[in-house]
Amino acid sequence: MTIILKKPVQTNARKRRGLWHVSLLLIVIQLVLFITPASAATESNRQGSPLLSGFELVDERPVKDLNGIGKWYRHRKSGAQVFYLQNDDDNKVFSIGFRTPAPDDSGIPHIIEHSVFCGSRKYPVNDMLSQIQKGSVNTFANAFTTADKTFFPVASKNEKELRNLMDIYLDAVFHPNFYQSPEIFWQEGGHFELASPADEPVFNGIVYNEMKSHYTAVDNRLDRAILKSLFPDTPYERDAMGDPKEMPKLTRDKLLDYHRTYYHPSNSFIFLYGNLNIDDTLKFLDEEYLGDYDQRQINASIPLQRPFEKRRTVTGEYPLPNKAERDGNTYLSLNYGIDEPLSSQLIVTMTIVDRLLMGTATAPVKTTLLGSGIGKDSYSFLLADIQQPVYSIIAEKVRDDRIPFFESTVEKTLRNLVHQGIDREQLQTIIDTVEYEIRESQAGASRGLLYNQLVLNSWMNGGHPAALLEVGEALAKIKQGVSSGYFEQFIEEHLLNNPHSSLVTLKPDSAAEKEEPIKRSLSDSEKKILFRQQKELQDWQSKANSSESIPRLTLKEIDRQEQALPLEERTEAGVKVLFHRQFTNGIAYVDFYFDTQDVPQSQLPYLYLLAEMLGNVSTDHRNYRMMDQELHEHTGGLVVEPYVFSHYKKGELIAPKLLIGISAVADQLPAALELLGDMAGHSRFDDERRLQEILHQIRTHRESALYEGGESLALSRLQSFLSPAGRYEEQGGYSYSRFVMDADDHFDSKVSEIRRNLEQVAQRALNKDGLIVSVTSGETEYPLFQQSVGRLVSALNSQYFAPETYRFPKANKKEAFITASEVHVVAQGINYSGTGQQYNGHMEVLRNVLDHGYLWERLRMKGGAYDAFSQINDGGTILLGSVDDPNVKETIDVYAQTGEFLRRFQPDEQEMNSYIIGAIGVMDNLLEPWEKGRVAAAHYMRGIKQQDIQQIRDEILSTSPQDIRNFAPLLDTFRSAQNLTVVGNGEKIMQNQDCFDSVVDIFK
Ligand SMILES: [Zn+2]
Repeated sequence: MTIILKKPVQTNARKRRGLWHVSLLLIVIQLVLFITPASAATESNRQGSPLLSGFELVDERPVKDLNGIGKWYRHRKSGAQVFYLQNDDDNKVFSIGFRTPAPDDSGIPHIIEHSVFCGSRKYPVNDMLSQIQKGSVNTFANAFTTADKTFFPVASKNEKELRNLMDIYLDAVFHPNFYQSPEIFWQEGGHFELASPADEPVFNGIVYNEMKSHYTAVDNRLDRAILKSLFPDTPYERDAMGDPKEMPKLTRDKLLDYHRTYYHPSNSFIFLYGNLNIDDTLKFLDEEYLGDYDQRQINASIPLQRPFEKRRTVTGEYPLPNKAERDGNTYLSLNYGIDEPLSSQLIVTMTIVDRLLMGTATAPVKTTLLGSGIGKDSYSFLLADIQQPVYSIIAEKVRDDRIPFFESTVEKTLRNLVHQGIDREQLQTIIDTVEYEIRESQAGASRGLLYNQLVLNSWMNGGHPAALLEVGEALAKIKQGVSSGYFEQFIEEHLLNNPHSSLVTLKPDSAAEKEEPIKRSLSDSEKKILFRQQKELQDWQSKANSSESIPRLTLKEIDRQEQALPLEERTEAGVKVLFHRQFTNGIAYVDFYFDTQDVPQSQLPYLYLLAEMLGNVSTDHRNYRMMDQELHEHTGGLVVEPYVFSHYKKGELIAPKLLIGISAVADQLPAALELLGDMAGHSRFDDERRLQEILHQIRTHRESALYEGGESLALSRLQSFLSPAGRYEEQGGYSYSRFVMDADDHFDSKVSEIRRNLEQVAQRALNKDGLIVSVTSGETEYPLFQQSVGRLVSALNSQYFAPETYRFPKANKKEAFITASEVHVVAQGINYSGTGQQYNGHMEVLRNVLDHGYLWERLRMKGGAYDAFSQINDGGTILLGSVDDPNVKETIDVYAQTGEFLRRFQPDEQEMNSYIIGAIGVMDNLLEPWEKGRVAAAHYMRGIKQQDIQQIRDEILSTSPQDIRNFAPLLDTFRSAQNLTVVGNGEKIMQNQDCFDSVVDIFK
């Protein structure tokens, strides 16, 4: 799994949320297609071709869908394979992957994924990945462990930087320092810690903490149980990521043996993508790395699961604190291993079948489960990046008396579909949606990374690397099957009559809650050894960690000019339009920003509730099923969400909005906008049963999000102490969760109040007055918007309501939330508005210094937290936070010492430049076409001009060490910060009770 993710630029525009919009990455992960092992293809079919830097060309073919050419090479001496997908994309990608079957549950592949970045032969730097993030303009640098592979991708628009990163990555995977330094294994895999030689040792480690947090989430536990149940005879039975219970048993020798065996060029799969110099790249690979190795036979393939005679039944447990209700918290899943010879057609078919059964508000299996009271909600799981894909149908939070009906209800619904036939129109709509998503992904800003995954999934399983890149033909065949019973037959064969199947039951277990930290009873001399090792680790971690060896671009090689985002102001049908012209592959993204300043403060929770109701309730012209069906038919996704904008550099709240956004293939725009007009102008809230159903679903999601706790809860609470915008947004955060639970608990007595409030808020919010529309598309798609927007506008209410004034009293607080997690999020903040300090570009460099120069080392490397970060907001707030952190008090101390660290900040020139370049890298983050439109619109609303952004860039580029030291007094105020949010482990929170004004138990 991901080590760290590059943080998105702060734009005050949040992530797009869709009730059923599938993200690009998801689609591609789902659309992973396989071909049958083509052993012939791996042999050179061009024996006569000349060697190119030691590489022979195995195959070359056009990849029509992507407008590119696929070139497959084999390095003769080492056996390494390279696939180059050549096209004109400037965002170039390199990745190296290895097949890494899990030998046990101790997480070896995952720990190695982390450990290779703790220093290598050429780059003896403890935290290579952080050093890369700190000082480069890469668009992606990370690593992933999946059930059967580990891969290391990087991307950049700068070819020189891509080469630098390739060199770092290759040196890391082939020549890691963990052979020489046992400290790396202790830090990542884990070690026993003791405060003094007399103490009881307790286990701690970065990957260990990450997995403890991972295992807290029920859905992760369930995914694991599903794979275990379907593949008892293969490595998929085991957890490549690591089961925290098993991780302390791993020895370093075992880890080194594993690395020696699998991290060899003969087991490597190298992917190159985009507009780059391939001859030169192959020469580099051969001379610097691959030429040193001789080919070796490595068996890393995974056997197929032996057929089942009948469905397996498996029962497991997940931790749920004692206080929570036992009954009504069971998870059930019906799972199928899909064993037919694999093809692209099969996987696209599975995607469509999944949508059909579970993916929409009218999906038959989903609605039947809900209607029969089996669970509070249900979802599906489609895993298609392994040899035998898996499909699961899951019911959440099932009451004990409903458990026996789950399996038979699903099967009965499937049988009815097969016998009565599937609704043709609905099927066609789903196929259109899938086609739409493929089209959108082909214009995606980071499509090279998606192709990387598709290539690996086929290639590592013995297929042609390009086999999954083209889906056009498979789709054409599938469409022909709509009328000939193809889908009915598929369901009958692969679901109903498939013995490779399991029924997994996960019940809440209170015993798991009481689980102690893993301890060991040891003799005094053993303790002394551990204590010494712990000292060695601390010394190693605080050793001057020079990053001089890391190759960097120079400041001269950085673009000084800030790229302008496209924005033109227009007026259509009497409404202001912001048009963002760019290539979108024929898709139009249309965002309606409704002014909600006239919604009274007391009704703000209802504004958030309204956002979740729209599109899910009936209108004057359509019932909610038709609405859902037509949304799928005419759009590629819907998002409805309250947005708050604040003044640039001032922080005061301006312009609260309700965003209703859609994306659609341009010729669908007239129908899509008509639909949106109906939704915005004519939604009805008088169907009480429907209101209750939706409330139930919202509650379920909110509850699990709260139970699993974490970052978003901590940050939203903290922001609410710091700024008016934060206080506004909190109305949709924790307070809203409580509001929803209360509404659901007392639905019968409150229903008329809920209904009345929703109607009033809709009337005020969904109003023509103050409406701004933001359109992102090419010029050719625009006229279709122009022709149809008038009809939508005329459907809206035009009554005038006076704007409201919001008053949010300041409320600093030190607060803790107890969740099921065993680790913590620890966050603290300050507000610098009114101190004379103004936001500027030096602060962007400061953020980079805090993240990579201070917090990373103190909280991740020494403290064992999975991540640590700072957030600096132009409105006047600075936040420091840690994620999956085993500590509480120690972390607060680290925050308090931030100013002290800055006072002593003395980087050399190279180090300083890397902080500057990294800050520019964050500014130049890749944005999807729709994100560009949304960010440009946010800038418009907040009054941010192009010259403001250019100024920030100029200030970043001119930052000196003194500029950073000047922030020391500001950061000193963390010592007296009167706010604190901690989310996590109850025991530790109660031990530190004196740190908090209030402790909230999420389960009470
Ligand atoms: Zn990880």
